[in-house]
Amino acid sequence: MEIYGADISGIEGQLIRFKAVREENKHGATLLGLAQKVVREGYVRAVKAIESLGGEWDVVNNQGYTIDLHPAETPKSSSGLDLPIAIMLLQACILQDDERLRILISKLKDKLDKILHKPTEDKRKEQILNEIEKLVKQRENILKYKQRIKENKGKYLLIGTLDIIDGMVESPERGIFGMISATKNNFNVIVPEDAEIQASVISKSKKNCNFYKVNNLQEVWNILLNISPPRKVKYSEAKAVKKKINRYVPNLKSIEGVSKAKYAMTIALAGGHNILLVGPPGQGKTMLSMAAVELLPKMGTKEVFELNKIFSAKGELKGNEVVVSRPFQEANNNITEAALFGGGRPLVPGLISLAHRGILYFDEINQCKGHIIENLRIPLNDKIYKISRVQETIEYPCNFILAAAMNPCHCGWYNHYSCPECKSIFFGQDNRCETHPTTKLLSKCTCTFRTIEQYKNKMSKPLLDRIDLKVFVSSFDINKLYTFDYATTTVRRKIQKARETQQQRYKSRSSIICNGDVPDKSQMEGVDESIIKYLTEISRKLNIDTKRTEVKSLLVARTIADIELSNRIKKEHLDKAIDLMGIKNHYFCDL
Ligand SMILES: [Zn+2]
Ligand SMILES: [Zn+2]
Ligand SMILES: [Zn+2]
Repeated sequence: MEIYGADISGIEGQLIRFKAVREENKHGATLLGLAQKVVREGYVRAVKAIESLGGEWDVVNNQGYTIDLHPAETPKSSSGLDLPIAIMLLQACILQDDERLRILISKLKDKLDKILHKPTEDKRKEQILNEIEKLVKQRENILKYKQRIKENKGKYLLIGTLDIIDGMVESPERGIFGMISATKNNFNVIVPEDAEIQASVISKSKKNCNFYKVNNLQEVWNILLNISPPRKVKYSEAKAVKKKINRYVPNLKSIEGVSKAKYAMTIALAGGHNILLVGPPGQGKTMLSMAAVELLPKMGTKEVFELNKIFSAKGELKGNEVVVSRPFQEANNNITEAALFGGGRPLVPGLISLAHRGILYFDEINQCKGHIIENLRIPLNDKIYKISRVQETIEYPCNFILAAAMNPCHCGWYNHYSCPECKSIFFGQDNRCETHPTTKLLSKCTCTFRTIEQYKNKMSKPLLDRIDLKVFVSSFDINKLYTFDYATTTVRRKIQKARETQQQRYKSRSSIICNGDVPDKSQMEGVDESIIKYLTEISRKLNIDTKRTEVKSLLVARTIADIELSNRIKKEHLDKAIDLMGIKNHYFCDL
């Protein structure tokens, strides 16, 4: 019988091999292998839980043990290790108790011999005989258990926190999804019943392992000694709790106006481009971003696993909860660095990782503290966030689409005009009120040129460099240029198709999934000479000064071509790209 436990490093589970020996003339346990405080306390929980098994195991408490947790050099700090510790104690006790009992019995027999012919000692004789009988029985049991342990050639991964009163087993607070996933071929995995759904989800991709659920220490012990048959984990819809990560998902079609922003969002999702939404408060920035998460293709098994590991490592999966849908996470400018990026003690992933494979909506991003915004560049670039600690470096995956939002100015109504007669609101200066065509519209924005500049200047330039698409979001925007069938199913299908096209295109490059991931022009395909010439012309005309912007406009054009099912990038795609990137727009070009 080989006993393993598991801990997590970052989000990934690490198998830990357990070995134990009993120490003569010692008391308590020495835990080797950088066992942190919670694991040392786990020994105490284990001893107490063993008492719940009944009298014959009292002996565990009065012995000394050395328990080795391998690998030796990685710190271990999960209460999920309680269960393997308890089993190690029982096992060490059994394997060595046989000898102790044998000596005890023979000593008692000697005693008995000495008083055998003294009639005055009859009462004492009876006492000793009873004691011998009890010990012999105990030894028989021990021998039987010893034999069964010897016969059991299985490898067991045991995960569970123990209750000191009744020996009940439950999931550790954090990381059980990663821990269960750490199982190797031909393992028997024993998990608390409250993790049955998570274990059964994982079991689908670990066909040659057995997964069992348990209620308490006794049940685990019975499984290991083959006393009673184990209970297999089973997925049941009724028991599974699908974790809600999206509060409310509006229908794209029901969001009024903003047709250009809707188109831009579609392109962002299709090509994995980050997007900046600028508009007055309450004009659809949040709604549009919330709707977006439903438009992404369904997650594959690998993605579902990653996400569950992240949520589990954060301690967000309680009792049979699983994540099955892409996340929408909302950050605002009050967020702390640790909450956004991950950190703290114990180390947990941050919001950027909880948004993995989904959308991170960052409201009023230009109002956020400078260093936080500057740091956001790193995960946007690497799709992974590294945190270094004394003994290890942790990596949290964080591949999300950033939907950054900001008001255009202090008052929020930049580029909005109203009719003084009827108070109707219009987006853009070139409008006329239909009822009062001769009346001059008045600017709704009360900001001055200077305060608008100041407001815009708070936005981080290096971060902007990571955001390909920049659009205004206003329900008063009646732009007809970007008409599109915005039924959710239609858009989702288009995005799915575009993603498949890209998957095919980049299949030989492991780090590239979609157009937004492509680092430079050399990696691009389907760009005709005429398009390059056209881009050079535009660059000269619009004063585009960086090669990087040129490449990005080709990449966005590539996504537009993908959405419009075109193999080659055409001029019209590039025109749209330039528009959606805000390159021609006075507000965005000097943001
Ligand atoms: Zn009017
Ligand atoms: Zn204003
Ligand atoms: Zn300008």
